[in-house]
Amino acid sequence: MLTASELSSLRGFASHDQQPVVSLYLNVDGTAYPTRADYETELSYLTSKARKAAAGQLELTRDQQGGLDLELSAIGEFVNLEFRRNGARGLVIFACKAEGLWQVNPLKVPIENHLFVDWKPQVAPLIETLSSYQQLCVLVTSKEKARIFQANAGEISEQTEILDQVLKHHNQGGWEQTKLQRRHELEVRNHLKKASEATLDYFRKEHFDRLVVGVADELWPELERVLHPYLKERLAGRFPVKIDASSDEIMSKVTAIEERLRLQEETSLLESLGPELKSGRTYVGGLDDVLAVLNQRRVDLLLVENGFTQPGRYCPACNTLEFAEQSCPSCGEDVDKVNDVVAEARELAVRQDAAVKTIPLGHPAIVEAGHIVARLRY
Ligand SMILES: [Zn+2]
Repeated sequence: MLTASELSSLRGFASHDQQPVVSLYLNVDGTAYPTRADYETELSYLTSKARKAAAGQLELTRDQQGGLDLELSAIGEFVNLEFRRNGARGLVIFACKAEGLWQVNPLKVPIENHLFVDWKPQVAPLIETLSSYQQLCVLVTSKEKARIFQANAGEISEQTEILDQVLKHHNQGGWEQTKLQRRHELEVRNHLKKASEATLDYFRKEHFDRLVVGVADELWPELERVLHPYLKERLAGRFPVKIDASSDEIMSKVTAIEERLRLQEETSLLESLGPELKSGRTYVGGLDDVLAVLNQRRVDLLLVENGFTQPGRYCPACNTLEFAEQSCPSCGEDVDKVNDVVAEARELAVRQDAAVKTIPLGHPAIVEAGHIVARLRY
């Protein structure tokens, strides 16, 4: 997964020789694209569409068009000949080889297909995808051993290991047996308390969004009893699993919970959208109004209908986005044409720390609002 510093250097990337930058978002999820040929076909469709659009909208010179063709065929070659899925469900490539940029990012979550050609990398959809998944802590525990993982957007990594040696059952019968049994139960309870405390420490350090627990069904009531209230209120799901399961095995259980959380959040957002827009207090809809509030840096959440694009304009003098004006309405300078002002709007939203979400194509609330909606900070 991309580190924060890699992301920020991508966002600061500038093509000094004015060579176009290609940002490819390719869904390679096995459920949508069972064979290689399926996503290769999608890529060649995206490539020819983007090539035509860029020629017109970026007003490329013959040299720049030649450079872009090389870039696109390098990407095609990589996807067709070198790339292997190995569990990846999304593939993101940023390329401007003339300027030394070639970055390949396989993702463990599916993404929307998109190929951007622009003067800079389009990073916002990647940030959007990754931020639509919550930061999860996964506690896996048995009677004598506990493991803590962090999981996000299909990736999992083990954080710590707590080992408690619990007195094993002795099959001696009688009074001795009862005493040992009692001692065993106490040791188990102590171990579960320690596991819960370690998870709480981890929460105080990392501030994860939700907790997922991997524990045998018969041990759960005991663990639930000792789980700190902070952890209980963040509990998002539970599944039975063997203590020595592999990370991949654990992640496959967590993925279902992760996807359910993402859908729940999306559903409740969409349900509230219609009434919120009607009340007109915190939401604005339609490209003109949304660009205006983005320019004022007042946006906290941007919702865009899937596939909505629109050519527009950008003022480099004051970083203002507009729809159609020839000169900037705020500073009067000449404005540049941009290929897709909606993609720029996403980028501007991310830069003001707003969350960006893509809404399924044709959802009535977003269509009625003009395909794009912003929620205001104030
Ligand atoms: Zn301006």
